[in-house]
Amino acid sequence: MTRYACMVCSYGYHPLKGDPESGIPPGTPFEDLPDDWRCPWCGAIKNQFVPEEEEGSDAREGSP
Ligand SMILES: [Zn+2]
Repeated sequence: MTRYACMVCSYGYHPLKGDPESGIPPGTPFEDLPDDWRCPWCGAIKNQFVPEEEEGSDAREGSP
């Protein structure tokens, strides 16, 4: 799963962590976030987020 970063405040959304404070359970891909989900730091909408490239790691996802 791809991590996304907020262009406004640099908050990073981690799919494996989710956003429990906003009711998003861990393991939720960014694409599956509700359209009204907002950046927990600055309130930016999903369109303000860009994918973050992860270098050198192609495994590990899925471990608890
Ligand atoms: Zn933000």
